[in-house]
Amino acid sequence: MSDAAKRAGAGITPSYRTMLLRALRQRCPNCGAPSLFYSWFRMREACPVCGLRTERQEEGYIVGAYMFNIVFSEMIWAAICVGVAIVTWPSPPWNLLLYGGGILMLVLPLILYPFSKTLFLAFDLMFRPDEGEQ
Ligand SMILES: [Zn+2]
Repeated sequence: MSDAAKRAGAGITPSYRTMLLRALRQRCPNCGAPSLFYSWFRMREACPVCGLRTERQEEGYIVGAYMFNIVFSEMIWAAICVGVAIVTWPSPPWNLLLYGGGILMLVLPLILYPFSKTLFLAFDLMFRPDEGEQ
């Protein structure tokens, strides 16, 4: 039995920090199992080790997960644009920020998709601990 399965079986709730670190590594926030995704855009219905559902049974969960992806992406986009403007002040590359920022706004949600899914799952798990919903 793997460590993840032992932890999952023991019913130990991981700390918030552990859940977030696991989510950033695209692992199950509950048990740390690495195989939550079939591909970059396709997530399993449940963790193969602990059985945690990746789309939890609540109305609006999917909309919340997509909104989290967009907000997460836009925060990173804003940090990059402000960072470039501050570093290059007083003459920021406005054309680069305009066109590069536009491209970044389209690409970042795709790049961050699996991370935002696991992070949203971790946040959801913090507020609504898994109670064996299957
Ligand atoms: Zn798991």
